[in-house]
Amino acid sequence: MNRMRFEENMKIDRDYVLSLIEGAKDTTDEEIDRILEKAKDKKGLDHSEIAALLEITREDQAQKLFEIAGKIKRDVYGNRVVLFAPLYISDYCVNNCVYCGYKCKNKFKRRRLTMDEIRKEVEILEQMGHKRLALEAGEDPVNCPIDYVLESIKTIYDTYEKNGVIRRINVNIAATTVENYRKLKEAQIGTYILFQESYDEEVYRKMHPNCIKGDYDYHTTAFDRAMEGGIDDVGAGVLFGLADPKFEVLSLMLHNQHLEKKFGVGFHTISVPRLRPAEGVNLETFPNLVDDEMFKKIVAIIRLAVPYTGMILSTREDEEMRKFLLEYGISQVSAGSCTGVGGYEEAANGRNIDQFEKADERTPIEVITDLIDNGYIPSYCTACYRTGRTGEKFMSIAKSEKIHYMCKPNALTTLMEYAVDYGDEEFLKKAEKFVRDQAFTIDREDIREFTISNIQKLKDGQRD
Ligand code: SAM
Repeated sequence: MNRMRFEENMKIDRDYVLSLIEGAKDTTDEEIDRILEKAKDKKGLDHSEIAALLEITREDQAQKLFEIAGKIKRDVYGNRVVLFAPLYISDYCVNNCVYCGYKCKNKFKRRRLTMDEIRKEVEILEQMGHKRLALEAGEDPVNCPIDYVLESIKTIYDTYEKNGVIRRINVNIAATTVENYRKLKEAQIGTYILFQESYDEEVYRKMHPNCIKGDYDYHTTAFDRAMEGGIDDVGAGVLFGLADPKFEVLSLMLHNQHLEKKFGVGFHTISVPRLRPAEGVNLETFPNLVDDEMFKKIVAIIRLAVPYTGMILSTREDEEMRKFLLEYGISQVSAGSCTGVGGYEEAANGRNIDQFEKADERTPIEVITDLIDNGYIPSYCTACYRTGRTGEKFMSIAKSEKIHYMCKPNALTTLMEYAVDYGDEEFLKKAEKFVRDQAFTIDREDIREFTISNIQKLKDGQRD
């Protein structure tokens, strides 16, 4: 049984996490085999079991871990991959995060987008086919107050390009008050995303010297406040590379369990950002960088531990790593991203001003073509959010696995819509064949027929 280790408010019990790591050191091979077998039931894992899997070094056990993670991924998410793009609206920042190119110590001309500039960025994103954005901003109560963020959200939802609108805005802004979370909820955001950066309090303080973000307790309890403010989809993550990754993964799981016990639902998504080079950031000065092999295992272990929590991978990772992890756990990826303020217009003009270096520079259509070639259905679906299937409601449908009957036709329909609106003749032909082939694999006749009938409707110009 998992030990419940939380008071009303979120607090990581450091000694408990360290004891889990220590206790896992002499896990036997038989024990690892038993845990891997148990994971196949998709009921999650105990903390000590997660700690044990983090000790896997033997190649055959790692292979078995990937196999099971891959099977869970396919059972829960099928071959669908949700696509999104980040939109940076302001790089004003009062914080001094050691790892970040936006730290206030870095002197460059800061800016926040005007509403006209936001409209321009959104039009470019819409022309790329995006329907789902992650809004990003540095923390600055004066230059980037909540009212500005709310106005930006309204502007984004109200911006129409000839092929449609942004249908879901996830928001990644600094930890804030219950009142502000309530306002974000009223503004109809999708997921509220906040990375813990590190759960290790000592490392956290070192990484955030002399700044607002340095308040570990305030940051760690942000999701409690978000949920009190009515936001029921929250997206977590740690920045891998700052502290011991075993400590971080176990703490993420404790945090998730805390929210499940207190609010009835845990994380909607988990992101797995890994530290990248940035302005004034020298990776050689970080002693806990996570290598590729460990990173792959971490994603697979999280997949086993929380089978129904979406997992997000950004363009911080290269094409090869993205391809590998899509097979073993990741359900959402960003595509064609710019990680700088006004970045899409700048990129359109041939300049580049990113917050950190990306590793995958492909355009959305290149990513989509590659996904199709590898048998994945790129999805722009936002139906759950639009029909109120969020929080606990979403999780209970996801756990019944009936969600396939909604998600697959929706994903195929949005891919077909994308092909009609953005593809050239060759892409349209390729996508239509793929959508038809995939539709034929749907075992319920009514849903199969419905999906196939959508193809012609979309080609005739109908939209939902
Ligand atoms: N200002 C928001 C906050 O304080 O939570 C976050 C927005 S920031 C644009 C999004 C995330 O980028 C951060 O939470 C951090 O994890 C990540 N990030 C910052 N610097 C990075 C780097 N050098 N490499 C990779 N990710 C980085």
